[in-house]
Amino acid sequence: MCGIIGICGKEMQLNTAQNLLQLLVHRGQDASGLAWVDEYGIHRDSKVKSEPKFINIDRADISTAIIGSTRYPTYGDRTGGSATNKFAQPFSFQTRLGSLSLAHNGQILNMSQLSDKEYSSDAELITHLLGKLINQGKSLEESIKELMLTMDGAYSCVGIIGDKLFAFRDPRGIRPIVYAQNENFCLVASESVVLQQAGFDSISVLEPGNYILFSGLQSRPVELVTSKEHTHCMFEYIYFASAASKIEDISVYQTRIALGEELALQLKERNIKADYVVPVPDTSKTAAQPISEILQIPLRDAIIKNRSSKRTFIMPTVETRIKAAMEKYLFIDSLIEGKNLLLIDDSIVRGLTLKYLIKLLKQKGANEVHVAITSPPISQACYYGVDFPTRGELIAAEKSESEIKEEINASSLTYLSLDGLKTSLKGLEACYACIDGNYPTPFGEQLKEISERAFLLKVNGSGVS
Ligand code: 5GP
Ligand code: MG
Repeated sequence: MCGIIGICGKEMQLNTAQNLLQLLVHRGQDASGLAWVDEYGIHRDSKVKSEPKFINIDRADISTAIIGSTRYPTYGDRTGGSATNKFAQPFSFQTRLGSLSLAHNGQILNMSQLSDKEYSSDAELITHLLGKLINQGKSLEESIKELMLTMDGAYSCVGIIGDKLFAFRDPRGIRPIVYAQNENFCLVASESVVLQQAGFDSISVLEPGNYILFSGLQSRPVELVTSKEHTHCMFEYIYFASAASKIEDISVYQTRIALGEELALQLKERNIKADYVVPVPDTSKTAAQPISEILQIPLRDAIIKNRSSKRTFIMPTVETRIKAAMEKYLFIDSLIEGKNLLLIDDSIVRGLTLKYLIKLLKQKGANEVHVAITSPPISQACYYGVDFPTRGELIAAEKSESEIKEEINASSLTYLSLDGLKTSLKGLEACYACIDGNYPTPFGEQLKEISERAFLLKVNGSGVS
């Protein structure tokens, strides 16, 4: 996953863009970067293998067009071994229409079909492909349209060509992107939280298959490719996006409340009882509130997130992830000893977090530890930008719900039903591929077949089951 922003208009300090980009740090903190047009019209950039606040810029520097990216690699170099310039976005390319700089959120599935060259990131590939199409004599708009017709995958992109800011979005609209304009600025970002913090209250979604060139105050998007079906990633609501954002005009916070309400109904049906509802911080805190209210069980923070902890999710080995989880969570022992707890988490991926937490809670004297999850079982890989591991590593790929319950040593395990999830999303057309295996693009389906074969090989020791 990644976060992107673009800003143009009156001269502004780079530091302003840097602060806005920092608001998207939850979308990626492995690398970040800014690219901008300087006073001579030359594109410059500054990138770092860290959060936006560490990007090295001259705070007083000003520009009329700036783009930025926070990166969480899901393709190419995932560990940050390559040079910062190759690892971090934005990327740039010289075109006959002036310099091109570009940042991207999503994942391209047919990279090898599009180019013989190995790229360290699909953002670099998009930049080069777009630049080459322009250099063949096509306009920016024609070039983007051609890309949209050939690239398979998820892509929400911002770019600067010459001194103009532009943005475009894949015809499926898999990743979010919004924009707003006033008499001074045009601002585009992955999530509305950036625009809200910048003081905009009228925010528009850049629709699937659309492109927008910000050339004045009333810039209008152009539909380049008609979207067959809008398949927005539902996991943005469950886990990824900021609770303060609206995605496709739907509040992430309110959706998480609805997820909790739906899950509470299932828990009520199963007659799950506990002394405390305990969210696994931080994402599930919102959904835990209605669960506590509906079940009439007090909500307590028996698990607290260590503010100085590192991320646990994309650490390279099981051992390092468990070690990081030990540093990540702190416990209020008086809420645990002798108590029956109902843990709420947003998702189970490998199952390591809950296995570790339940073991620790039991060591601390917890009696029963029930578990409820605000998503259905994640049993398929994501090829569109969420860093889920290969199918073989997903606990729900091989195991049934009761086997997972045993594996994590929970007293009971309740996953939100797919219907409950769809109800919470209020009919939004969405991609549920990580749950139901229906991939929205042709290459997604191809990758599914390949991974299915590899999975069967692993499970059965042969390609035939
Ligand atoms: P597990 O320990 O089962 O592998 O991962 C589940 C935990 O990871 C949950 O607590 C969930 O909040 C978190 N999680 C789920 N998806 C992602 C992701 O894409 N990135 C990060 N950093 N954490 C995730
Ligand atoms: Mg979590």
